[in-house]
Amino acid sequence: MSNNPYKIAVSQINNVANLAKLDKNTISILEKPQQILTVNIPVKMDNGEVKVFTGFRSQHNNAKGPYKGGIRFHPEVSLEEVMALSIWMSIKCAVLDLPLGGGKGGIIVNPKELSENELEKLSRGYIQKIHKFIGPNQDIPAPDVYTNSQIMSWMRDEYEKLNKNEYAGGVITGKPLVLGGSKGRARATAQGGFFALKEAIKEMGLENQKLTIAIQGFGNAGSEFAKFCFEDENNQFKITAASDSRSVAKNPNGLEINDLMEFKLKTGSLKNFSDGETFANQDKNDYSILEEEVDILVLAALEGVVTKDNADKIKAKMVVELANGPVVPEADEILFHKNIQVLPDVLANAGGVTVSYFEQVQNAMNYYWEEGEIVEKLRIKMVQSFHEVWQIAKENKVDNRKGAYILAVQRISEAMKLRGWS
Ligand code: NAD
Repeated sequence: MSNNPYKIAVSQINNVANLAKLDKNTISILEKPQQILTVNIPVKMDNGEVKVFTGFRSQHNNAKGPYKGGIRFHPEVSLEEVMALSIWMSIKCAVLDLPLGGGKGGIIVNPKELSENELEKLSRGYIQKIHKFIGPNQDIPAPDVYTNSQIMSWMRDEYEKLNKNEYAGGVITGKPLVLGGSKGRARATAQGGFFALKEAIKEMGLENQKLTIAIQGFGNAGSEFAKFCFEDENNQFKITAASDSRSVAKNPNGLEINDLMEFKLKTGSLKNFSDGETFANQDKNDYSILEEEVDILVLAALEGVVTKDNADKIKAKMVVELANGPVVPEADEILFHKNIQVLPDVLANAGGVTVSYFEQVQNAMNYYWEEGEIVEKLRIKMVQSFHEVWQIAKENKVDNRKGAYILAVQRISEAMKLRGWS
C-alpha cells in the first residue's frame, strides 16, 4: 500500500464495498471528488515583489448537504492530500449523520514566513478565486492546520464584500465569538473524543478500573483531551506520558495536566517539566511514546505514525485517533488481530465538525446557544454515533474504522440513490 493519502482514502471505501453492499456506480462516484478547483493567487508582498501561491478546493460529495471542510495553509499541501481529506470529511459528516457533505481546501504556503498583511492578502485572494463555488448552502470552509479564527474572519468579510455586502455568517465556521462563532468550538474535538472514549470503556467492561493514558501530540486537541481525562468526575484516568514534536514528559503517578498545559504555553515545550521525568525526542520521527505500557494510547499529532513496522509494538488496549489518519490501513489489520480497539478519526475527532455544524445552525437562526446546551447536543450526537459504529463493527466482525465506513457510505449511497444519481 502506498502512502498516497488519496489512494488510501479510495482503498478504505473499496474495503467496505461488499459489506456495505455498494454497487459499481456508487463506488465510481464516491472514488472521485465531484469538483476540484485549482487556483493561483498573486500576492504583492511587503517588498513589492508579486508571489503566486497555488491553492485547491476539493468538493467530494454533496448528496447529504453542502460540502464542509477546513482550509489548510502548509508548505506540503498537495492536490492529492486535499482530495483525500475531502473524502474523509464526507465520511465523517455521514458517520455523525450531519446534513453535510465533504470538502477540503488548502494553499501551498508556509504562513510563518508571511507578515500579517501578506497573510490577509493571501486569505482574501483565495476567497476572490473560489467565492462563486462556496456559500452557506453550497460549501462551508473552516480552519485546519495553520489557519485560525482571524483568517476565517478575513475570508468571511471578503466573501460578503463580493456578495453585495449581504450578511453570510454561515459561509465559514470557526469564527471568533464576536463574529458569530459558537461557544464550545475550541474544545469540541477533545470533548467529542472524550464522550466516545467513555462509551468505549463501558463496552469493554473497563468502567471500574483505573486506566493509564499516553498522548502523542500535546497540542490543541491532545492537551484539551488530556484535561478532560484529568478532570474526569470518577477520577478514572492517569496520564503517564505526553509528547510533542520535541520532547516527552512522563510520570508513572500521573502528570498534573493543568500545570503541564501552563508549562507548555510558557516555554513552548514539555522539556524540563519538573513533575516527573522529561526526555528530548531523538528526532522528529521519534515515536517511542507509542510503545508505552498504558491502557489507552491517544494519537493527536500527525498522520501515518502507526505503520506495519511499529503496530506490533503497541501495548495499549485502545487507540484513540484525534489526529486525521494516524494509523495506516496495514497497521489497522495488525491492531485488529491483536484485539486492540481503535476509535477511528472519522468518529473520535468528529466533535470539531459537529460543533462547526452547530455554529452554522446558529448563524442561520441568528440566535445563539449557551455552552451547556452545545455540549449536551454534542454528547447526544457522539454517543449515538459511537454505538451505531460499534454495533456495525461487531455484527460484521470488522474493526471500528470499517464499521464507521460501512455506516457512512450506506448513508451517502442512500442519499445519492434517492436523488437518482446512481
Ligand atoms: P496542534 O498543532 O495544536 O498540535 C499538534 C501537536 O503535535 C503539537 O503539540 C506538536 O508539537 C505535536 N507533534 C508534532 N510532531 C510530533 C511528533 N513527532 N511526536 C509527538 N508530537 C508531535 O494541532 P491540533 O489542532 O491539536 O491537531 C492535531 C491533529 O488533530 C491534526 O491531525 C488535526 O488534523 C487533527 N484534528 C484537529 C482538530 C481540532 O479541532 N483541533 C479537529 C479534527 C482533527
